[in-house]
Amino acid sequence: MAKVAFIGLGQMGAPMARNLLRHGHGLQVYDLNPQAVASLAADGAQAAASPADAARGMEVVITMLPDGQRVREVLLGAQGVAGTLAPGALVVEMSTIHPLESDALAQAMAERGFSFMDAPVGRTSEHAVAGTLLILAGGTPEQVSRAAPLLRCMGDTLVEAGGPGRGIRIKIVNNYMSIALNALSAEAAVLCEALGLPLATALEVMGKTSAGRGHFTTSWPEKVLKGDLSPAFMIDLAHKDLGLALDIGGQLRVPLPLGAAARELYSQARAQGRGRQDWSALLEQVRAAAGRDHHGV
Ligand code: NAD
Repeated sequence: MAKVAFIGLGQMGAPMARNLLRHGHGLQVYDLNPQAVASLAADGAQAAASPADAARGMEVVITMLPDGQRVREVLLGAQGVAGTLAPGALVVEMSTIHPLESDALAQAMAERGFSFMDAPVGRTSEHAVAGTLLILAGGTPEQVSRAAPLLRCMGDTLVEAGGPGRGIRIKIVNNYMSIALNALSAEAAVLCEALGLPLATALEVMGKTSAGRGHFTTSWPEKVLKGDLSPAFMIDLAHKDLGLALDIGGQLRVPLPLGAAARELYSQARAQGRGRQDWSALLEQVRAAAGRDHHGV
């Protein structure tokens, strides 16, 4: 069983730490909030008075903190982990922070003789309690295999993101997509309501289509991801349908800013001669707008 320091016992960190305890790992815990520490101590963890105190004698340090500045403070500040950590110990940074900050911390820790990997999590605090988080491990194969037995106590899905810094990068892009999709879903739901359609109908219909299921697994795999842009549903028609929805939204005074922006992407695709291509060709359109060559998927 590993000796682990766990720092940051909030909504996510506390249940994650509890799951490590449950699997028999020895924990020293620290949080600015003394009640959070006391609660973990009541479950069998050793309470620490600072990050440095928590890290003393530990093989692994896990951080689960609000932002990059807090992580830097905890690792490198006056009472920081780096002051007491044993050489060669592994720091597993699981918060959601800026990837460049994560890179800088990895370098600063490596310069001090410590191993640092990023392993942010997907899903919610309910999954943290159940031990069913999605964990996106960014590290060398050696780091990932060292951390894996601990990570598997906290999550049921462990993805090796392909190297140091990549866990936090895929996490940011995943959140970009799901957070933006949340906004688009809200536009669609309010349009339904304005049209007098029960939301239950929307949930039933969209749950069965690419609207609710997402394009990565529905419209893309057999088309653009295979280089086939022949139309299953063409860009011209998608542009027309978006226009219908925007027109109805205008009449009913429902603002649809994301839909309006999306229509302009389809307009650009048509202007570039893609009107009769499959709507999944929007991937190629956005690639071209970003000045990126297509080297295959
Ligand atoms: P939280 O605010 O509930 O917990 C953060 C904890 O860190 C608090 O207990 C706080 O007291 C402690 N803390 C802050 N500064 C500290 C310091 N200098 N030293 C020691 N402890 C300190 O936040 P959370 O929901 O647990 O989120 C933690 C991280 O996980 C964030 O980066 C968040 O973006 C990410 N995340 C959250 C969720 C979620 O559903 N809540 C899901 C995935 C990822």
